Amino acid sequence: MTETARRFGWLVVYRYTDNDKSASKENIVRDDFEQLLADLAAGTTPDGYPIHGVMAVNDDRLYRRPSDWERYLKAFTTQEGRVYHDSNGIQDLYAEGFEIKGLLGVAMSLSETRKKERRSRNSHRSRAIRGQSVAAWRPFGWEDDKVSLRPDEAEAIRQAVKDVIAGASISEITRRWKEAGFITSRGNAFQYQTVKQVLVNARLCGYREIKGELVRDGDDQPIVGEWEPIITPKEWFAVTAKIRERGRGTGMPRGGLVHKYLLTGILRCGHVLEDGTVCNNKMIGIKANDWLKYRHAYMCKKTVDGGCNKTYKRGDKTDKAIEELVIAKLERDAASKAQDVPDWDKADALERAVRSRNELERRWHDDEDTDIDDETFFRNLPVLERRIKELRADQRAHEALKAEAEEAKEDVRNAWGSKTLTQKREAIKKVLSAVIAVPGGKGNKTFDPELLKPVWRTSE
Ligand SMILES: [Zn+2]
Repeated sequence: MTETARRFGWLVVYRYTDNDKSASKENIVRDDFEQLLADLAAGTTPDGYPIHGVMAVNDDRLYRRPSDWERYLKAFTTQEGRVYHDSNGIQDLYAEGFEIKGLLGVAMSLSETRKKERRSRNSHRSRAIRGQSVAAWRPFGWEDDKVSLRPDEAEAIRQAVKDVIAGASISEITRRWKEAGFITSRGNAFQYQTVKQVLVNARLCGYREIKGELVRDGDDQPIVGEWEPIITPKEWFAVTAKIRERGRGTGMPRGGLVHKYLLTGILRCGHVLEDGTVCNNKMIGIKANDWLKYRHAYMCKKTVDGGCNKTYKRGDKTDKAIEELVIAKLERDAASKAQDVPDWDKADALERAVRSRNELERRWHDDEDTDIDDETFFRNLPVLERRIKELRADQRAHEALKAEAEEAKEDVRNAWGSKTLTQKREAIKKVLSAVIAVPGGKGNKTFDPELLKPVWRTSE
């Protein structure tokens, strides 16, 4: 509830707890519930803080008998403008007919199934906040204890994260995991979606998340789980940023379409047609005839398919020539931006904003300090909260950038050798908009790399 209160910009002034005291039993006195009723009627907590509202984990934690409901509603509505929040969200207790609605709720909350459902949801949440595992199944990468790592799976994840940051597609990772014989912890074959779920899970770096939000403690630090992490938070930020970026439609196809040949769609036919224009059709990759020393080739499509069919290049040497061009270019680039991405320069600003917010809360609590009245407090809090949120988003983006830069600093040629075909294609397309393949004339016996004309992308 503390986190929900923070989201609304509310300040918790008192916590009423009646652990292990059933709200449904006649003969049990719930001390804090009685205290709450008295405080609501008086308008302040025992320490004298004004009460502007009540939050309850569930309404059935407050009242499960009609008489309690009546007493609670009466005490709550002694003042105008209070807010009430429970698992159903904000409820208007002043609204006409809410007495009836509340009574119906009392009746419904007697249902045992609902009770069980809520209990398990709550224990789920409180376990998460303590950083304990809540998964019903063993997560892929961990042993059955959900704490220690299963080495081969953990290593596969670590490698996949590295590759995705470097440009590999989820489809490739899926195929690779299938080939390696990995199955999900539920015993199913890996699919695109299940691989993606594994890779974006904050658990990988030790963080806990609920419904896509990191669980944070009172100081806004992510809660670190009790399990062994597989990657660093920095890597996790980078890999999720990369996958999100793809989700927006840039980059790789999603459905598992993987190109077979390195330069399909990149090579264009450079044959000059009879009217003096250049064919410029995208060349296709084909399997070479069996008697040839090389395995594949590129050719301009047949005329019936819109090409001129005049250009043919053997695949191995063409691939090699273009790879060399691109490696040389990447090496030049890496050298020129060898200096590090600077550290995030707004850490102080974030710290200041968090400190300001804490200070604002502290001063508002402080009776001696009369500068901060309720109005000032609630006007300023959302501004600070928003600032903190913006700075955090900026920090995440920066971490992703930094992780990518560090990846790129590695030895370009070695890194190239360990790239998958898709990674190579991505890298090539980043620096080359096309390669024009000029036909080698009659006979076409010797391969001439000079007949491949790279069209470099102009750097921004
Ligand atoms: Zn052509």
